[in-house]
Amino acid sequence: MTNLEKGKKVVTIAYGCQMSERDAETLTEITRQEGYQSSEELENADLVILNTCCVRESAENRILGKIGELKKLKERNPHLKIAISGCMVQQPGAVERLRKRAPFIDIWTGTHNLHNFSDLLHQVEQGGKVAEVWTEPKLTLESTPLAEKGKLQANVNIMYGCDNFCSYCIVPHVRGRERSRKPEEIIQEIKDLVDSGCREVTLLGQNVNSYGKEFSPAYDFADLLKDVDQIADLLRIRFITSHPKDLSDKLIETVAEGQKLCEHFHLPIQSGSNFILQRMNRKYTREYYLSRVEKIYELLPQARITTDVIVGFPGESEEDFEQTLEIMNLVHYSHAFTFMYSKRSGTLAAEMENQIALDVKKRRLQKLMSVQNQQSLVWRQKMIGKTYEVLVEGPSRTNPERLTGRTRGYELAVFNGHPELIGSLVNVKILDAGSWTLTGEIERSK
Ligand code: SAM
Ligand code: SF4
Repeated sequence: MTNLEKGKKVVTIAYGCQMSERDAETLTEITRQEGYQSSEELENADLVILNTCCVRESAENRILGKIGELKKLKERNPHLKIAISGCMVQQPGAVERLRKRAPFIDIWTGTHNLHNFSDLLHQVEQGGKVAEVWTEPKLTLESTPLAEKGKLQANVNIMYGCDNFCSYCIVPHVRGRERSRKPEEIIQEIKDLVDSGCREVTLLGQNVNSYGKEFSPAYDFADLLKDVDQIADLLRIRFITSHPKDLSDKLIETVAEGQKLCEHFHLPIQSGSNFILQRMNRKYTREYYLSRVEKIYELLPQARITTDVIVGFPGESEEDFEQTLEIMNLVHYSHAFTFMYSKRSGTLAAEMENQIALDVKKRRLQKLMSVQNQQSLVWRQKMIGKTYEVLVEGPSRTNPERLTGRTRGYELAVFNGHPELIGSLVNVKILDAGSWTLTGEIERSK
């Protein structure tokens, strides 16, 4: 009897960034080909996959807590198979450490060999446990399973890995060197997604701005955006993440000229202090960063800029932190992801002197968050009375009678409307701005 006939259920949980979510989709797709049906109910699951993150200790702690929960689930249901995949497993020595701690886990797999998950699954279905972590990618890029079809929005990998080695960051250590997919393969994948009903794609890379740097003849991220912008029936294109050091004028001009390219730049600043930026190995100064922001607003006055900030990096003084607050006030981000520095073993910053005490990090984070929350609210309040293009995504989670969708700048709006509008662009006049969402009314369909 096949798994499908037995009606086997898989629950996949992703931790961390969009790339981890995208990898979790790949794993779900592989299990679907093996006859599993995707589910959200842990109690009835036959297979649970945790696709992990190790960017900060807090993420690892949450995952370890979940593994503890799954142990109890497995005690109630001994047939349950559990797989732990992704960045946390990919760290040197992690499997040995984790296996001792959680011997009941059936499959351990890293970031470079997700594609052979079905082999691992077959092995444990025969009985036994398996751990397989490749130290580097061995498959060609194009053998990676593609984004799931039939959804309104899709994440599309345009590249893998990272070459930047920011001194705090574990990502280059667990995802390998940067490699770009061929443009024709990306474009074909997006065309196929659009044929299956997709209307918005987010192009993913740790630093999309350095896409194609190895290509000859030259073809860069701006060229890719121009080509994706031509795809019929696609309504919107987003991209994440933009490293400030590689944000070219050509790219900003391309976004300004594009039809479907959303004017939203996620441009992580990390710190407003040149001293700290240098220690972070970010390869730009605050002055250069501000020149990029100026260029964006010059060509795209309606653009939204969001960011990531780390407080409490080793050696960060009160003055350095003040400079971060100052740059937040200068740029006026519409949203910011704010983090306390977390020591990651194997990175340069973990060995640096002057690590900052936890209470100082917490105080700085609180201050930063209150500054940013205020700025985000001001942004949203400024939108009241104006009309914005929104892609209708579906019923609102908090009130299924209403619809929800995002503006081109990535703000979430809730409004009344017929479910037939899902998947189309509408103009929404903003009537009110709450802490997280905008409420409005549809003016007219596009
Ligand atoms: N490649 C993206 C970039 O350069 O912006 C970001 C990838 S990383 C998964 C997302 C964010 O996590 C980073 O921008 C940084 O702010 C934060 N981060 C990475 N390592 C960290 C660490 N050790 N402690 C705290 N935050 C960290
Ligand atoms: Fe990490 Fe820096 Fe690479 Fe982003 S660019 S993934 S922060 S090393």
